[in-house]
Amino acid sequence: MLPVVSIVGRPNVGKSTIFNRLIGSRKAIVDDQYGVTRDRHYGESHWNGREFTVIDTGGYQPDATDVMIEGIREQVHIALDESDIILFVVDTEAGITSLDMSVANLLRQQEKPVLLVANKSDNEERALNATEFYSLGFEELFPVSAINGTGTGDLLDRLVELLPEETEEPESKYPKLAVVGRPNVGKSSFVNAMLDDERCIVTDIPGTTRDSINSKLVYNDKTYILVDTAGLRKRRKVEENVEFYSAVRTDRALRDCDVAIIMLDAMRGFEAQDKHILSEAERFNKGIVIVLNKWDLVPEKDTNLLKEFEEYIYAEVPNMKWVPIVSISATNKKRIGKVIEVAEEVIQEREKVISTPDFNDFLQRIAKERPLPIKRGHALKIKYATQVKSAPPVFKFFMNTPSELPANYRRFIEKRIREEFGFKGVPITMTFKQK
Ligand code: GDP
Ligand code: GDP
Repeated sequence: MLPVVSIVGRPNVGKSTIFNRLIGSRKAIVDDQYGVTRDRHYGESHWNGREFTVIDTGGYQPDATDVMIEGIREQVHIALDESDIILFVVDTEAGITSLDMSVANLLRQQEKPVLLVANKSDNEERALNATEFYSLGFEELFPVSAINGTGTGDLLDRLVELLPEETEEPESKYPKLAVVGRPNVGKSSFVNAMLDDERCIVTDIPGTTRDSINSKLVYNDKTYILVDTAGLRKRRKVEENVEFYSAVRTDRALRDCDVAIIMLDAMRGFEAQDKHILSEAERFNKGIVIVLNKWDLVPEKDTNLLKEFEEYIYAEVPNMKWVPIVSISATNKKRIGKVIEVAEEVIQEREKVISTPDFNDFLQRIAKERPLPIKRGHALKIKYATQVKSAPPVFKFFMNTPSELPANYRRFIEKRIREEFGFKGVPITMTFKQK
């Protein structure tokens, strides 16, 4: 798990400008596949070889009815829970305000390292004036200009010094199944049902991570780590912006898992946010299982109904028909074990290795079935290919002019790989190299 840095401060001091500067070009990764565009208020950054997640708490909008100070109080509390280091941003142009003092009071009551960032120090004079902020009671003050970049290098140097040591999680030898999905689809109900199930042996893992509760689960003699992204919110009983932080947690859990169990509410259908989670899981090359929960609420279930649901979901993501879909009822404990069984199949598929001779035989066959096109007078030709990696699988193809390979032929290859070799629930990466 990457360490987390949160940016807090009153409105208009430049939090989101700093955030964008820290995230830099990585922001461009934002996925607009499936037409899901939304503001990202968290992202990854790196400096001196260290990577960390940055959260812009300014992206969190408290209820409009809230008075400002209440909203900020909430923002700061959540930031404290979620992060390793706090960047407390103030504005040298405006000087100290009473809201700054309130934020300072909240931050001084805790132990996490706080770096005071005197933003808008665009010139020498303002940078000198920034010293007035020492009166807020923090030792480490960094005059920066988020707009022109001055001072951000010094800030980042110190920030990475304070990052916690990278630690290998001891349980990492077991496959991690992350239960993700929108709020209220039934993630916790599923996890709890699983942990209660008499077929399972469960061990609490002490020192669960900051943003999810992990349990060790033995099912059919195999051990898994079940990652509950919703549990902590419930355990903590703190009011929080559910949507905002569940997006942050989901992203982090997805990065860290082997299989994403993406839960949907069968009564609510498949919406933009679900698609976004699915496309993130694919982008991170994780194994994927879609679970349709609350099946007990679906009227007139017959065998065709699940088929119809599947078709409806696949129609939304036509390139992902390889994702298995399981219908369950978490509250009635119906088919919950099936989820783990399918996740296990996906793990096996993800680890699968196709031998190079078998793969090249296959390529020859499909080239006969559908010859590669002729481009500008010469025939495209794939000379050979090999699986260079598993879990997740990566195939490397050597060919004459990779840039001219049509996208539909790529899709054809992927489709035929899946028909021939399976890879159920597993994103496949294909790279084409000149040879
Ligand atoms: P937030 O509400 O704290 O997220 O603040 P924003 O990042 O939206 O910035 C508020 C305003 O301050 C915007 O008009 C920014 O262009 C401006 N701003 C941000 N950083 C700087 C800076 O370093 N120098 C100056 N002069 N303006 C800045
Ligand atoms: P989470 O936010 O995704 O963890 O969702 P919860 O597990 O808290 O469930 C949200 C609500 O849906 C709760 O009221 C649950 O009782 C209800 N719920 C969860 N699973 C099922 C189910 O299989 N069937 C029905 N009818 N309700 C469910």
